[in-house]
Amino acid sequence: MATGFYHDERCLWHTTGEQALFLQVGGWLQPMAGGGQAENPETKRRFKNLLEVCGLWKRLDVRDAEPVTWDDMRRVHTADYLERFRAASDAGGGFLAEDSPFGRGGYEIAALSAGLVKRAVLDVLKGEVANAYALSRPPGHHCLPDAALGFCLLANIPIALEAARVAGPLRVVVVDWDVHHGNGTQAIYYGRGDTLTISLHQENCFPAYQGLTSERGIGEGRGCNLNVPLLPGSGHQGYLDAFNLLVEPALRAFRPDLIVVASGFDANGYDPLARMLAHSGTFRWMASRVKALAGELCGGRLVAAHEGGYSEVMVPFCGLAVVEEFSGLASGVVDPLLVLLEENQPAADMVAFQRARLEAQARALRL
Ligand SMILES: [Zn+2]
Repeated sequence: MATGFYHDERCLWHTTGEQALFLQVGGWLQPMAGGGQAENPETKRRFKNLLEVCGLWKRLDVRDAEPVTWDDMRRVHTADYLERFRAASDAGGGFLAEDSPFGRGGYEIAALSAGLVKRAVLDVLKGEVANAYALSRPPGHHCLPDAALGFCLLANIPIALEAARVAGPLRVVVVDWDVHHGNGTQAIYYGRGDTLTISLHQENCFPAYQGLTSERGIGEGRGCNLNVPLLPGSGHQGYLDAFNLLVEPALRAFRPDLIVVASGFDANGYDPLARMLAHSGTFRWMASRVKALAGELCGGRLVAAHEGGYSEVMVPFCGLAVVEEFSGLASGVVDPLLVLLEENQPAADMVAFQRARLEAQARALRL
């Protein structure tokens, strides 16, 4: 059985208007060629293109999907939010949050993006594909039940999981390796005991002042939220240490039926929206670990949903590394930036300081 790869060109037609990085242009901020928001189609399209030109595309089980339904969305989002989103989309587009613009039809494209994740989850649970990667756009992990945030218009992963749970209970671990805090997924599952949400992120990056180690969940969800904030400048070893000391023990102890990765590539060393030094080898290693853990704990059931990542040059190589690991296929592609970033890793004392912080967190959690 092959790895499923879920995409739809229409997700790449989601428009984010006249912005610069994440700001509206105007005043002293000059408009940029080609739109300009960091969240634009190019990173994702170039990821897909690299899969095609290297030949891996033909060896994947490439699939499309239906948009999620109103009922699917309503399991996670308020009716008021969805109605405001649909009305603004029908009226030509706009903003539900300052950093989350969309054009006409943005509502339908967001439903399609969530639909890719939903089908990936359902197909993996049915055993139709070995595991799955959904090239979802717009992304989802910052979106709250009643508010857009950080380019995210629908909570793609929770919508997919709640659709799957219509058929019965499901214990899920969400590993969010996007460099920004997975605040939306955390908020949606904060009081739930059936979903362990783990976020690896740059400390105090976005959203600011969130993603603290003290945020552990409430009620039935107590202990089911794990934040692993890493210092700015953390690199490959920092991610390995975080995974070994915290992510893996917590994931193992939860005994999931399914592992879902919120797969952002913005921890790469050339990303414009973060200050970390991970590289394609880091994502390759993490993909290899989650695949091994899925094989050991939950029959190999593993889905990745694309999130952020804003370096047009780096994202394709990071994405290819993950797909290679998920599929067990080698493309022969050499990431030309890997050597450079391997040479640009933080100093040993910084790595040791970071590791001591992670060890202290693990001790406090008795992991
Ligand atoms: Zn991000």
